[in-house]
Amino acid sequence: MWNSEESAEEPFASGSDASSLKHFAPAGKGPWEAVPDADWHNWKWQLKHRVSSLKQLEPLLPTLTSAERAGAILANTKLAMGITPHFFNLIDPGDEDCPIRRQVIPRLEETDTAPWEMSDPCGEDSHSPVPGLVHRYPDRVLFLVTDRCAAYCRYCTRSRLVSNASGYDFHPHFEDQIAYIERTPAVRDVLLSGGDPLLFSDEKLEYLLTRLRAIPHVEFVRIGSRIPVFLPQRITPELCEMLRQFHPLFLSIHSNHPRELTTEVRDALGRLADAGIPLGNQTVLLRHVNDDVEVMKAHVQKLLMCRVRPYYIYQCDLIAGSAHLRTSVRRGIEIMQGLRGHTSGYAVPTYVIDAPGGGGKVPVSPEYVLSRNNERVVIRNYEGRVFEYPEAEDGTPLFDRPREIEAPELA
Ligand code: SF4
Repeated sequence: MWNSEESAEEPFASGSDASSLKHFAPAGKGPWEAVPDADWHNWKWQLKHRVSSLKQLEPLLPTLTSAERAGAILANTKLAMGITPHFFNLIDPGDEDCPIRRQVIPRLEETDTAPWEMSDPCGEDSHSPVPGLVHRYPDRVLFLVTDRCAAYCRYCTRSRLVSNASGYDFHPHFEDQIAYIERTPAVRDVLLSGGDPLLFSDEKLEYLLTRLRAIPHVEFVRIGSRIPVFLPQRITPELCEMLRQFHPLFLSIHSNHPRELTTEVRDALGRLADAGIPLGNQTVLLRHVNDDVEVMKAHVQKLLMCRVRPYYIYQCDLIAGSAHLRTSVRRGIEIMQGLRGHTSGYAVPTYVIDAPGGGGKVPVSPEYVLSRNNERVVIRNYEGRVFEYPEAEDGTPLFDRPREIEAPELA
């Protein structure tokens, strides 16, 4: 890994034991060592210098594989390639299966589409009363504000529109989106997403938040953003000062691997938390990225150290060209089993499948209720020990002595 002279802290070790996974280290400047600090820490400089072509990528990553080279040539026709220098520095050039690399460097496998894969797996377009606004659940809407992100994730569920590489022609009309919310009193919760809303200037974001806050029935606004992870330089004190005017305002970040939680990211998240913004994290379960109990446990524990509550683990949507990144649901359940009871409850997210076609999020969990009738509930704990608990339908327990029972009694 490239080292940084900015900090005395140790760079990332490439090992996967819990202590190295939970170690905080700076991303550092890596091959951009000659760039002045003022530029490096400037989010606009980071955006302008994204790695977005094979020509830029090859000299920076001499270990590029033929599948990645082919993928990078084909990128920008499906979902653009774009990697901020900050995030690029987290790639381990010596590891073809580096979990960071797999998320942002295209591979040839993206051109394979399985029959069950889709361009809009969550059926967002068919649940849009006006362009750019998804109203799928009764009391909340998804407000898509832009098709741009700081970097592009190869498994993005919105790759049909994000980066505009496939000609979706996304042009949201804020006035139409806001007007729909104004005339729909059932909407009490608005999630700003995209693309990434934090790519907007402070002024543009402030305008949008002011308009939403002026709607009396909007109780709660959320922002979904991967910018604290891809571009922590964007989380300026000025941005945080502006955001704090709009409470209750929540922010969901998107981080998949403990290595993404650098010292720069931790500090950026600290600034948001200091502004009173509750932080949650959404993780996508990805093959060879985080489909491992120890990696996931280190990740959720490290998120808590960054003042972020792990919120969801998503089963990877059936997005076209993502089969090489998808894991089985069985694996996801095993990971949940490895978290519940084995670490703090605050660290345990909900594992969900977004039901194909627009069915919404469905929680998927290991079985802890083994049987249930009018008299008792038989439950299993995280160690596999079995207990019975009296059912109390009308406040009168029909079963008077709760006890641990031997598994054979289950038969
Ligand atoms: S940051 Fe979010 S919207 Fe942007 S490419 Fe990644 S998953 Fe898609």
